[in-house]
Amino acid sequence: MDELQTFRSEVRAWLEANCPPEMRQPMRDESDACWGGRNAVFKNDAQKAWMERMAERGWTVPDWPKDYGGGGLSPAETKALRQEMARIGARNPLMSFGISMLGPALLKYGTEAQKRHYLPQIARGEIRWCQGYSEPGAGSDLASLQTKCEDKGDHWLVNGQKVWTSYADKADWIFCLVRTDPQAPKHKGISFLLFDMATPGVSTKPILLISGNSPFCETFFDDVKVPKEQVVGEINKGWDVAKYLLGHEREMISGMGLGGAAGAVSLGEAYRDVLEGDPLLRADVARFEVESLAFRAMSERFIDELKAGLAHPAQPSMMKYAGTELNKRRHELAMAAGGSNALEWESERSRGGKGAREWLRTKANSIEGGTSEIQLGIVAKRILDLPGA
Ligand SMILES: Cc1cc2nc3c(=O)[nH]c(=O)nc-3n(C[C@H](O)[C@H](O)[C@H](O)COP(=O)(O)OP(=O)(O)OC[C@H]3O[C@@H](n4cnc5c(N)ncnc54)[C@H](O)[C@@H]3O)c2cc1C
Repeated sequence: MDELQTFRSEVRAWLEANCPPEMRQPMRDESDACWGGRNAVFKNDAQKAWMERMAERGWTVPDWPKDYGGGGLSPAETKALRQEMARIGARNPLMSFGISMLGPALLKYGTEAQKRHYLPQIARGEIRWCQGYSEPGAGSDLASLQTKCEDKGDHWLVNGQKVWTSYADKADWIFCLVRTDPQAPKHKGISFLLFDMATPGVSTKPILLISGNSPFCETFFDDVKVPKEQVVGEINKGWDVAKYLLGHEREMISGMGLGGAAGAVSLGEAYRDVLEGDPLLRADVARFEVESLAFRAMSERFIDELKAGLAHPAQPSMMKYAGTELNKRRHELAMAAGGSNALEWESERSRGGKGAREWLRTKANSIEGGTSEIQLGIVAKRILDLPGA
């Protein structure tokens, strides 16, 4: 306990000295996020310095081993670091699908050479990754994917199409599910492949969302040559890697239930004046606030259990469902409280929410990473053991 207290004091002092004041402001929108990568665009010097300082200590991935670019912290130390960051409102120094998705899968399924090569690059924010899972004919039924991957002796040859690939047009590398055995039952002929998006034959086409942004793409592979050693896990057993990664993706997405920057402000506080004159909306907001607190507590317990290896494997589905439905409600209520002003397309964030564009963006929360219906199916089958599920 004393050691943890000493660690916490050191962290507090280090953060005070190293977290720039600009990085203690709530993020206003997605453009405030730092994604790193070969073509990293930093909004200002403070953002760059914050990412680099945290990466240098391994604190972009505090609980990864030091050998792989992490901080080597215990679960209790990691939690203390997160709490100290939250105390001063420090931003996440590096948003990364490498950190939240690929890294955990590599730690479990990667070879030693793959871990030593890819993980430090992820920790330092040098390579930006995207996720090539969904295809035009394979979303909820992901194992139906058809992207063809042929063994050409000294390399793999990939042909096919992915869709909804978030930030594919900005990413440096992709982690991708491909079919290596078309004769095998659908879950058994899939492999998990990594490759550079700059490889000849890879192209992307952005898709416009209802919010007016284009955060994802159609991604095409035409005779893409991939080195043999870039398969993670066993050939034709990529489904195991894919499912493990999905658990981490759902854990990450469930964090939306905490509401991000908007979550720091209670809706009741933000719209006190409106709610005083609207008892029905006030009751809805009160119910939401209570459920938010319950979610926050549940989320903390879930992360502790996960880090201790005690979480049920299907728990991320439960958390993803709860967190994303809650986040959608937060924005619905903020829009209701904001009235017609909140519909202003170019407006700044509304008081407790983030304005019309972000309200529309939340509609995708319960689709990305597997839809709410699919999560409920998993919970029914694997946690509740319901008959017929
Ligand atoms: C913002 C956003 C970002 C995304 N980013 C990525 C990414 O980076 N990489 C990637 O690979 N994919 C990404 N996706 C794709 C996402 O994973 C899929 O959209 C999702 O899995 C659903 O697949 P689908 O769109 O094909 O819908 P479908 O599978 O066609 O589903 C249509 C509807 O049918 C319902 N349904 C389907 N099957 C069942 C069932 N068995 N039981 C009950 N209901 C069912 C669904 O719930 C849904 O309402 C992203 C999606 C969004 C919205």
